[in-house]
Amino acid sequence: MSEDGLPPLRDVIAHHQLRADKRFGQNFILDLNLTRRIARTAGDIANCDVIEIGPGPGGLTRGLLMEGARKVIAIEADRRFLPALEEIAAHYPGRVEIIQGDALKIDPASLTDAPYRIVSNLPYNVATPLIIDWLQSAWQDGCWQPKFLSLTLMFQKEVAQRLVAKHKQRAYGRLGVLAGWLTYADLVFEVDRQAFVPPPKVTSAIVQVTPRAQPLAEANPKTFEKLTAAAFGQRRKMLRASLKQICLDPHDLLARAGIDETARAEEISVEAFCTLARLLDEAVS
Ligand code: SAM
Repeated sequence: MSEDGLPPLRDVIAHHQLRADKRFGQNFILDLNLTRRIARTAGDIANCDVIEIGPGPGGLTRGLLMEGARKVIAIEADRRFLPALEEIAAHYPGRVEIIQGDALKIDPASLTDAPYRIVSNLPYNVATPLIIDWLQSAWQDGCWQPKFLSLTLMFQKEVAQRLVAKHKQRAYGRLGVLAGWLTYADLVFEVDRQAFVPPPKVTSAIVQVTPRAQPLAEANPKTFEKLTAAAFGQRRKMLRASLKQICLDPHDLLARAGIDETARAEEISVEAFCTLARLLDEAVS
């Protein structure tokens, strides 16, 4: 038995014949010391619910429970894992809820009325759409009202670097602008590929994302989205060219924002993107 009184994960996988399926982005962590470390990174999980995306055989689920999670609500797409997850739920009565479904189609905020944190070793193929969706759906009637307390997420290291990148850094792009505008995002630690079964091709990293009480600067989210899509859609182009598709007179817009018209998107700070978004809205109102 493992220290939580459940069988070791290797035995669980063998017993339920849970071979990893690439279609679901399955790379499992079997080391409970590592999953407990991820759980501790999430902060206080004893006084809120934890929503876990993709529990698989339950390594991170068990880490969260061992670290005192009050309740774990786990969303798993692959039905084969349900019997193994039910065994964990039976071992921790009242503390585990299992939902079989596609996390891309489930709004985490609809799963609980309690404050919650999302903690996940994310399936790589859906990681970026999921975090963008969680951030965008935290806007309610034009107000930034995130219901989550934090997101503790495993990404491919390259995606993690994009998420935390600041302007003038190589990895800076739409993801970093969006995250920098609405959250504090930190790359907390890297995880070697050998920590997974089977090992993925690339190194991974844990990112801790905490929502800002207010966005870094004022801007309409739709305009912000349109602007950053245009600016980074042609990231090697100067802004005076890339913004032509959304603005009749990019020269005037950039001049009013005090931005050099030969600048490229990667040189523009989050605050400056917000200024541009506000000026764009003024121009059409
Ligand atoms: N949490 C486990 C661990 O750390 O060992 C498994 C992580 S594995 C990288 C990703 C998990 O997400 C798999 O169990 C996979 O079946 C599940 N998954 C993939 N796509 C999903 C989706 N759209 N919704 C919910 N779960 C999904």
